[in-house]
Amino acid sequence: MPQTEPPNGPKIIAIANQKGGVGKTTTTINLGAALAEQGKSVLLIDLDPQGNASTGLGVGIDDRKVTTYDLLVGEAKLAQALHKTVVDNLVIIPATTDLSSADMALIDNEKRSFLLRQVFADAANALSRYDYILIDCPPSLNILTVNAMVAAHSLIVPLQSEFFALEGLSQLILTVRDVRKAANPDLRIEGIALTMFDRRNNLSLQVEDDARENMGDMVFKTVIPRNVRLSEAPSFAVPVLIYDTTSKGSEAYRALAKELITKEKSHGGQRNGA
Ligand code: ADP
Ligand code: MG
Repeated sequence: MPQTEPPNGPKIIAIANQKGGVGKTTTTINLGAALAEQGKSVLLIDLDPQGNASTGLGVGIDDRKVTTYDLLVGEAKLAQALHKTVVDNLVIIPATTDLSSADMALIDNEKRSFLLRQVFADAANALSRYDYILIDCPPSLNILTVNAMVAAHSLIVPLQSEFFALEGLSQLILTVRDVRKAANPDLRIEGIALTMFDRRNNLSLQVEDDARENMGDMVFKTVIPRNVRLSEAPSFAVPVLIYDTTSKGSEAYRALAKELITKEKSHGGQRNGA
């Protein structure tokens, strides 16, 4: 057994997949809300210039005074960027489209992959009250996603239950390997979450079989069904757990939160390794 450090500070999880529309933001918002419902204190970082997580949690564009971009370029402190959401125990650092210029703004910065990690390190005291930090990544393996991978303990990879779902995964895993080598040797894949699953659809079942055969225990037992309530909730600027608390989507994300918590306990509270 490797030495187990006592858990201190939040567990940092990046929700990543370079494909768009696979359920990253939906998973970040609703897993965050479900963890908060379990009594966990959660900080969500919107790292996508589209700002969908911010919108989906009720932070309108005009309310986004201090954003993830300001933190990355060193123009604000983390405490100034925290924003309440419609969910108790769930706080967000919002994003706006200016985040899309981060690539250019950071081009001459040697530490450009380490900025988010540094933001977290500088704010370690303020962050110690959180149990989880969830980072909603953009649909690309760009500098923003690399920042998330460098700063995180682990990744959750949403995988849409459709044809070609597994194809992009090898590229993602290569990037994880690069990040491990260069910057974050302990980065783990926390789990692959099958999303938009439809039990009546043979393709969904086949994707699940393939994923479990190839990736084994890495695939969460909990599967997120295709559920129209999940897609409606963002237009009301609330998580599905508030919009329709008994929906299949709500139940699925509650189950995922519980599975995540249990998985962590079985790692003995370890942040890294294994
Ligand atoms: P990403 O962040 O990976 O681009 P999103 O979470 O924004 O993906 O999801 C893409 C679209 O699919 C959104 O319109 C979202 O509401 C919808 N969606 C996500 N998960 C589900 C689901 N399980 N059932 C139905 N619709 C979903
Ligand atoms: Mg998204």
